[in-house]
Amino acid sequence: LVGPTLLGVDDLVAGYGAEPVLHGISLQVKRGEMVALLGANGAGKSTLMRTLSGLHRSVSGGLHLDGNSLEHKPAEAVVGLGLVLVPEGRQVFSELTVLDNIRLGAFLHPDNIDARVEEMLTRFPRLRERLHQRAGLLSGGEQQMLAVARGLMAKPRILLLDEPSLGLAPKVIAELFAALDQLRQENMTILLVDQMAALALALADRAYVIEGGRVVAQGTAAEIAANDDLAKAYLGGH
Ligand code: ATP
Repeated sequence: LVGPTLLGVDDLVAGYGAEPVLHGISLQVKRGEMVALLGANGAGKSTLMRTLSGLHRSVSGGLHLDGNSLEHKPAEAVVGLGLVLVPEGRQVFSELTVLDNIRLGAFLHPDNIDARVEEMLTRFPRLRERLHQRAGLLSGGEQQMLAVARGLMAKPRILLLDEPSLGLAPKVIAELFAALDQLRQENMTILLVDQMAALALALADRAYVIEGGRVVAQGTAAEIAANDDLAKAYLGGH
């Protein structure tokens, strides 16, 4: 059930000083697709995710979401257009309760909020058990589920996930990826960065490999997973 291009990135250049980190990235995510973004540490994956989200300014290149230009739009406007980032390191509000964290995700769309919170608690039952605890007391896996739930409350048309498995135990990662698989089956459009490349490729429809701020390979997830050179470079140990 993959549709036309939802997110288009065209020759995107971005960096932090004079020297670019992204040297002209082009990629597309189609409606209903899950696309994995792979690459070693420092390849520029987080910079790309932050630039797409309006948290970091690009130097040049095109960015569009369903025909709307995202270039130089502030982060809140980008969320309003339906591109929602679940950032690396989860970044939940640790002093607030789980419930308040979930509700905060709906700040642009407060309609029907109780029913939508309920939907998140059905999706992530662990969060229901901890609803009135401070988010800072949750385990890493629970915080990641909370971060995803908060992101979903923003009514994403595309969800960007930056390293959701980072620092989590294998059992917790399996639980989290099951939830991502569920979202995929519901036709949520997802761009996923994860070091667990084999797991990401098992879920994704397509993948891009980034090295030194450039796309060095792209293909179906099966093609990327079957490529021996890429497997050696990026899939080793996972
Ligand atoms: P990781 O998996 O380690 O997060 P990544 O692929 O996400 O890697 P980025 O975090 O985007 O890579 O980093 C790409 C390059 O940009 C690195 O050389 C990094 O040192 C540099 N960089 C990242 N953030 C900043 C910043 N705020 N200021 C200056 N340089 C930065």
